[in-house]
Amino acid sequence: MARQQATQHHPLPVRSIAPFDDAPGVWLRCALHTHTTNSDGWLPPAMLRRYHAVAGYDVLAITDHDQFTAPPDGPDDLLLIGGAELSLRAPASCGPLHVLAIGVTGMPEATREMSLTEAARTIRAAGGLPFVAHPVWSGLRTEELDDFSGVAGIEIFNAGCEVEQGRGHANAHWDIWLAKGHRLGGIATDDLHTPGFESFLGWTMVHAREKSRVAVLEALSQGRYYASAGPRILGLASDGERLTLRTTPVQSIACLAQAPHGTQINAGRMHPTVHAERRRTPDDQIREGATDGDLLTGATFTWLPGARFLRLVLTDPAGRMAWSNPIWAPVISTKEKSPAAAASSFGTKLFARATPPPGHAERNEASRGEAGPRERTTPWRGDPFGTRRAGSSTSSG
Ligand SMILES: [Zn+2]
Ligand SMILES: [Zn+2]
Repeated sequence: MARQQATQHHPLPVRSIAPFDDAPGVWLRCALHTHTTNSDGWLPPAMLRRYHAVAGYDVLAITDHDQFTAPPDGPDDLLLIGGAELSLRAPASCGPLHVLAIGVTGMPEATREMSLTEAARTIRAAGGLPFVAHPVWSGLRTEELDDFSGVAGIEIFNAGCEVEQGRGHANAHWDIWLAKGHRLGGIATDDLHTPGFESFLGWTMVHAREKSRVAVLEALSQGRYYASAGPRILGLASDGERLTLRTTPVQSIACLAQAPHGTQINAGRMHPTVHAERRRTPDDQIREGATDGDLLTGATFTWLPGARFLRLVLTDPAGRMAWSNPIWAPVISTKEKSPAAAASSFGTKLFARATPPPGHAERNEASRGEAGPRERTTPWRGDPFGTRRAGSSTSSG
């Protein structure tokens, strides 16, 4: 009875966000960008396979430069999907434009002179999905690529480029391309050439309906994945207005719309929380991360009117990060499923777990009106994006 009263004060979510929904399937830790001795990697294909199998990966794509390496057999249950890394020329900066062909069954018929969209077509014709590799290492100007037709996404993190040059993160490129309306996913990879150097530092968590090449590609094309260099995203749900995340312990959680709009929760007593709400600690004594040394296992962010997308970026105390795919406005604002479907969704469980026990619920609700601006969940003032909203998604630079 008391529990029912509590849930009346805390409306249940109406939608969990893919891939953290209740769709049946398996989580697969995927290495999607690796090299062997067939190009400039140190390990022969069979050894590269063994290396990833013993490290606990589920899926491996061998992506040698401009050639297709036949997936080697091995005494393990690692799933090998085909791959290649195509070398194109960037149209304006004229440097390298590398495109991963993930999941191909043979070498795409691409040439160095092809445009990105032409290469994407040949990759799809060869059964794979195109992802633009390491845009920062390549020195790509964001405006020189304005047509991503057929492209599935980009590398938001490339560990090899990070270890080698500190150029592994593509935050600005992704933000700018997303703000222009390009619906690109973000993967994390090692770009493994040298075992022990850039190995097992970045991977992509794919939620596929089964462990098969076709299902992995299907999940990648549907955005059912997130990128990680450490943290695991455990749940993500929306109640139509607020986005609630659960994660393994992290130091900060950013919720980003098109720049310059977004907010971040940081753990530590000197870090106020604005436009977002910290979870309460499991013992229900205080809010998470409100004291030094305490970490965050989730947060709730208020949906921003005018946001075209939101994406979450998590950073653990060692600086290792994870990146959700963008959640596009029409998706998140989709109104509720049937109550029965909502009740069975992961999001419901997520909120149910996050709901304070009876007693606290009433106190929280009662105190909401007087709470300080740092703890209160308040809508963003005005419409921070209003003036730029109309038609801006189709503008080009
Ligand atoms: Zn490359
Ligand atoms: Zn590479």
